[in-house]
Amino acid sequence: MSSSSEADVVVCGAGAGGLAAACALGALGLRVVVLEKQLRPLPIAKGELLQPSSLEALARWGAGPRLVRGGGVWIDRLCARAPDGRVLLELDYRRLLGAGRCILAADYPAILGALEDSAAPNVEVRRGIRVRELVRDSAGRVCGVELADGKPRTVSAALVVAADGSASSLRDGVGIALTREQYPHRLVSFEIPGSHCAELAAYVTDRGLRLAYPLPNERTRLYLQAAPDELRGMDGSDIRRWAVDAVTQVPALAELAQRLLAPETRRQLFAVPRYLADRLSVPGLALLGESAHAVHPMAAQGMNSAIADAVELAAQLTEAGEWSSAAVDHALAGYHRVRLPHLRHVATVSHNAARMLTMVSPLGKLLGRRLMRGTANNPRLSAATCRNIAGIDPHPLRPLDRLYQLGLLPDPRANQALPEPSSAATLEELA
Ligand SMILES: Cc1cc2nc3c(=O)[nH]c(=O)nc-3n(C[C@H](O)[C@H](O)[C@H](O)COP(=O)(O)OP(=O)(O)OC[C@H]3O[C@@H](n4cnc5c(N)ncnc54)[C@H](O)[C@@H]3O)c2cc1C
Repeated sequence: MSSSSEADVVVCGAGAGGLAAACALGALGLRVVVLEKQLRPLPIAKGELLQPSSLEALARWGAGPRLVRGGGVWIDRLCARAPDGRVLLELDYRRLLGAGRCILAADYPAILGALEDSAAPNVEVRRGIRVRELVRDSAGRVCGVELADGKPRTVSAALVVAADGSASSLRDGVGIALTREQYPHRLVSFEIPGSHCAELAAYVTDRGLRLAYPLPNERTRLYLQAAPDELRGMDGSDIRRWAVDAVTQVPALAELAQRLLAPETRRQLFAVPRYLADRLSVPGLALLGESAHAVHPMAAQGMNSAIADAVELAAQLTEAGEWSSAAVDHALAGYHRVRLPHLRHVATVSHNAARMLTMVSPLGKLLGRRLMRGTANNPRLSAATCRNIAGIDPHPLRPLDRLYQLGLLPDPRANQALPEPSSAATLEELA
């Protein structure tokens, strides 16, 4: 593979998606240039939960061990609970997926740092550089990017990876469409120091979801669901008092109440969109991560999907076998064809999980409870749901499974075991 341009691949954006692409494509020996408009990663809390499928990729690149050494916290079960602590649905990763299958919780900037530090020497990350637009050859194929640093400057490459996030200007530049929908609630997230949280627990209350999980260095991440207008006109202190009231209704979280008022507790408030692009590639360009898809964060799939995008793109390029525009475009077509059905599946899994946990209308709550009970009482559906969320041998649920979950039909295969999960990296291998 050789070319006369300064890079084989130019990646726009150094979020989790762009840096995962840098690791995956750098490992193929390609010369990768990552262009990032921010001078340093913003200290925001985004993806923090790495699913087993992502951990296998991170272990191959060497990023997993860095995160474990940096204090990443293993989480071995997801638990939906009633406000009084009763278990509604438990997904025990070790029991349902086999030993060594866990989630790793780490800070988003630490995940970015681990990916960047693990990339091959043929990967160069340039910060403080904003990509202005795409460059095309005479046939209209994307063949590089133009930078917005005052004077016209182009970086040419046979492959451009648009990992420039939800407001992707590169996606708009090639006219790829997506329809954005908003969930009918907001989320407020708190990072609470000096607190120990033993598990990832989603408390389903009349006022919405209250979700908590451990972070490195004795911190807890807490998400609180709010109705769209519930926080209107509130200042920071009002929101903290609102949050104290919200956690006090869940006895297991009540000990967090005082810490919510501490000045060092950090807070973010955001709306929750979902979308999926109708194409993932055009000749010369791949969309990756949030430039192409977003799901409800409570199913912890977005960053994991971005990492899976990078893995698939690298697999398609490997299969293409040579480095030419034609071979790259063949690989890009394969990337779109293979990845889109997976992303549709992830969108369905995430949307169903989000609805089950966040619906607050009387009918919605009833349905959510029945779905959780129906899944909890059905070993086959529990295992399939766990695999779908973990990204290990996903098992899309069929319309009939919905009827079993709702208790409208008895499931004759409820106790039938799923085939053994395919790969089985142990915690020791990941660490
Ligand atoms: C609150 C919250 C919690 C979440 N929790 C989880 C979780 O636990 N697990 C999970 O899997 N996912 C989670 N997600 C989703 C996850 O954070 C995203 O899917 C993931 O971060 C997307 O990464 P990305 O690289 O595609 O985009 P981004 O992280 O948005 O990165 C895009 C990058 O491109 C840069 N950029 C943009 N335009 C340009 C330009 N013109 N030139 C140069 N650079 C540019 C930006 O500065 C940015 O650094 C969560 C999301 C939210 C909001």
